[in-house]
Amino acid sequence: MKKPILVVGNWKMHLNTQEASTLVHRLSQSIKVHRSVEVVIAPSLLSLQPLSLEIDRRKFRLAAQDAYFKDEGAFTGEVSFTMLRDLVHYSIVGHSSRRISFNETLEVVREKVNAAVRNGIVPILCVGETKEEHDAGETKQVLHDQVTSAISGLTSEDIRDVVVAYEPVWAIGTGDPEKPESIKRNIDYIRMQVRELYGETAASEVRLLYGASVEPDFVHGILSIEGVDGLLVGGASLNHKQFAAIIDGAYQIAITRS
Ligand code: PEP
Repeated sequence: MKKPILVVGNWKMHLNTQEASTLVHRLSQSIKVHRSVEVVIAPSLLSLQPLSLEIDRRKFRLAAQDAYFKDEGAFTGEVSFTMLRDLVHYSIVGHSSRRISFNETLEVVREKVNAAVRNGIVPILCVGETKEEHDAGETKQVLHDQVTSAISGLTSEDIRDVVVAYEPVWAIGTGDPEKPESIKRNIDYIRMQVRELYGETAASEVRLLYGASVEPDFVHGILSIEGVDGLLVGGASLNHKQFAAIIDGAYQIAITRS
């Protein structure tokens, strides 16, 4: 059976709990229940608990933006995947802002992917090259290293549920997404990494998203690229009209795919 198109809104460090609740309320009014589109929101950690009580579960699922890889212990300031397991379905792992601003290494990202899976949370693993790496022609090497290292501790059963989001870091927040032919090339390359490690079935089941400057006008073009199973949306997911338009665009594509 075809998996629904996955649309994830990453709210990053925006919106207090009241604002998050208002946005969910507005979104809930604008979007319909679509079996063919799965909508996930990743609010701040603080808003997860209240939103889990408020959301219409036919319309939304929740994701954490990050968590710590140890299950419990003396780790002041951290929250574990174990603590989140009853609250969220997904967690973003290895977002470029974590890799860049918080120095998350390949090893830390791998530990977090393992911890998410161990706790029954589906990781949305973010991978992608910086501007310097892009300009130096190192994109494939970066994708190879980030993908293979992050998933190498998983079994071929685990990998089927994993989501990988390809996010060219240089295109995030610019309003200018990567060109469709490059998205296709890089998405194909990521799927090939999964195929080489886990075989054809795993490669065909793993969901691959594109993220970076997704706005309503670009949805049709990006989701028409073969192999793109959904979108990771940053800035535009903070605006209920834009995010609802993106979800609607995904729904239109889902209809044509079925
Ligand atoms: C992101 O940072 O994950 C992202 C997709 O941001 P934006 O959509 O704002 O480019």
